[in-house]
Amino acid sequence: MNVAMENLEALTDIPAFETKVDNEEWIHTTDKLEVMQINVGRLCNLACKHCHVEAGPNRTEIMGKDVMEACIKVCEEQKPGTIDITGGAPEMNPDFEWLVEHACQVCDHVIVRTNLAILLEEKYQHLPEFYAKHKIEIVCSLPYYRAKEMDRVRGEGTFDKAIQVIKILNDLGYGKDPELVLNMVYNPAGAYFPPVQAAMEREYKEKLGNDFGIVFNSLFTITNNPTGRFGAFLKRSGNLESYMTKLYQSFNGATLPGLMCRFQISVGYDGRLYDCDFNQAAELPILTGETIFDWVGKPFKSRKICLGKHCYGCTAGQGSSCGGATE
Ligand code: SF4
Ligand code: SF4
Repeated sequence: MNVAMENLEALTDIPAFETKVDNEEWIHTTDKLEVMQINVGRLCNLACKHCHVEAGPNRTEIMGKDVMEACIKVCEEQKPGTIDITGGAPEMNPDFEWLVEHACQVCDHVIVRTNLAILLEEKYQHLPEFYAKHKIEIVCSLPYYRAKEMDRVRGEGTFDKAIQVIKILNDLGYGKDPELVLNMVYNPAGAYFPPVQAAMEREYKEKLGNDFGIVFNSLFTITNNPTGRFGAFLKRSGNLESYMTKLYQSFNGATLPGLMCRFQISVGYDGRLYDCDFNQAAELPILTGETIFDWVGKPFKSRKICLGKHCYGCTAGQGSSCGGATE
């Protein structure tokens, strides 16, 4: 368990998450697997301040082909509507293209989460065309629509690189052709909540359109979850208790039916299974302790979700998930 999580349950006085749930159904998965999220490793060309998986250039955790093959087998059997490939920078996994191609053979909707900057590195410059050829939905992280704010979170020059790549994607038809979907993710840069999603999307579209001639489909606003590097930052800066209290006080019961963990599984680089990427960051595996290898050839069964105080990050205000607001 990482540092922030070890302390989260004990260090904050707010009540346990389960005390706020008045219907058991909301803390169990549905009967069908809708989304398989595959985290192919922690290796990343960047090391962003808010990164909940604490990815970076020195991380060595990389998903092997045996785990990928098991994921594809389970998808063949369970037929989830979406395969969502993430990291780290997923492109840096040596078997990334194999996974994408096989994912497309067993699923009609494949998402790749990218930090954009990686696509300018020589080794990966062919990938925008590869994505377009396979009609991959791209979810790119763009912490802000101005260089100053984004570079503060991601590092010097990352905004300009992102804009350059989005222009390449737009030229390929991304954000214009209905089959080439380009979505963006906004995370707050500190210990505060994201603004209302629809309003922020309008603002992004206006600014990026006017300043750079860029188009995209939707903006997802995501609340920073108090796990990983962001959790460690909260603790270090003395903001953990106040951030957790804010999350708790903003609890919105209407977000419970849409919790992403009710519909998905998150596969770790070593094949361990988690209810979501945040639980993966917090090293909280699914309660049955099964791995992806255990799921091959087995029918899907609803399970109770592994919860903790970090779950308040998904139920504050408009709610939050990998697909943005949930309410
Ligand atoms: S937030 Fe994304 S781009 Fe930044 S270090 Fe983490 S995985 Fe890499
Ligand atoms: S943190 Fe994960 S397990 Fe907890 S509510 Fe959010 S999606 Fe579900």
